[in-house]
Amino acid sequence: MIDLRSDTVTQPTEAMRKAMANAPVGDDVYGDDPSVNRLQQRAAEMLGFEDALFTTSGTQANLLALMSHCDRGDEYICGQQAHNYKYEAGGAAVLGSIQPQPIANNLDGTLPLDQVVAAIKPNDIHFPRTKLLSLENTIGGKVLPQSYLAEAQQLAFYHGLKIHLDGARIANAAVAQGLKIADIAQHFDSVSVCLSKGLCAPVGSLLLGDEHFISRARRWRKMLGGGMRQAGILAAAAEIALTEQVERLADDHANAAALAAGLAEIDELAAGIEVHTNMVFVQISPELMPSLVETLYEQGILISAAKQLRLVTHKDVSSADVQLVVNVCKAFFSRLP
Ligand SMILES: *Cc1c(COP(=O)(O)O)cnc(C)c1O
Repeated sequence: MIDLRSDTVTQPTEAMRKAMANAPVGDDVYGDDPSVNRLQQRAAEMLGFEDALFTTSGTQANLLALMSHCDRGDEYICGQQAHNYKYEAGGAAVLGSIQPQPIANNLDGTLPLDQVVAAIKPNDIHFPRTKLLSLENTIGGKVLPQSYLAEAQQLAFYHGLKIHLDGARIANAAVAQGLKIADIAQHFDSVSVCLSKGLCAPVGSLLLGDEHFISRARRWRKMLGGGMRQAGILAAAAEIALTEQVERLADDHANAAALAAGLAEIDELAAGIEVHTNMVFVQISPELMPSLVETLYEQGILISAAKQLRLVTHKDVSSADVQLVVNVCKAFFSRLP
C-alpha cells in the first residue's frame, strides 16, 4: 500500500530496530534507564533547554505542558484549530481543570496578536487567570514565520504569560526554513515534539523546558499513567529519530511539492491545491470524493478524505509512489464523462 493518510504510519528504520534490540535499559520511574536519560539529555542540548521528558505521545506531552504551566482555574490562549484545543479530547479541561480560550486562526496559522492581547483577563475574581499562550508549528503543515514567533514571545513576556509550542512537527518547520530546531524553540518556555510522525520512531514524544517545569511535568506524567519502566527500548529508537531522520524530511517536502505539481496538471483540481511542508490539500467536489477514494484504494493508495483530501508524504512514500498516485488520479479524471 501507498499510505498517504498521515506521517504517523511510518515504519521504524532498520537502525531503530537494531538499537531497540540492543538498548541498555533500567526502570525509568527510578530514573535508572540509561537510554531514556541519554535521549532526554541529547534532546535538551539539541533544542536548547535545561531538561526534557520522554512521553508516551504528543497528546500526553501537550497535556503535561498545560498542567505544569497552569493550575486549576487558570486558562491558556490557543487557536481554534490548535491540536491541543480541538483534537486532544478536551484533556486540559477534563484532567487539568484548565480553561481554553480559543481564538480564530489566521489563514496562515498564526493567531492575531491584538486578539490575543484582548483575550488576556484582568486580575479580578470574576475571571480565570490567563497563564499561557500556546502556538503550533507547523499547523496544518504551515510554517509560522520566525518574526511572528519573536513578536508572540515578546507579547507573552510583556503580559507575564508563559509561551508553549506544540511542535509536533517542529522538525518539518526547521527543515523547510533551513534552520536548526533550536532556532524555533528559543522563542518558547516549553516545546512538545513528536518523534513518531515524520521522524519515524515507533512510539513517543518529548516535552522540553526548564528543570522546575520538567519536574512538575514528571509528577503529572506519573499521575496520568505515563511512568514507563524499561522505556529505553523506545528511547533508543526515539534518539535515532532525532539524530538521523531530521534532514531526510526535505525529501518528504520535495515529494509533497511534486505531488501537488502533478495534481495541478488535472484541470478539475488545478485551482484548489495547497502544499505546505509534507502536506498536500486538494479541494474536490463532494460527489466525486467517494469514487476517487475508492479508485485510489483499488490501486493500493490510502488517503484521508473529509471536506477536502489531505495527502501526507513521509519516509515510506517514494517519488515513484508519488508519480503513481498522480497517474491514477489523471486516469480517474480522464474517464469522467
Ligand atoms: C499528532 C499531533 C499531536 C499529538 O500527537 P500524538 O502522538 O498523536 O498524541 C499534537 N499536536 C499536533 C500538532 C499533532 O499533529
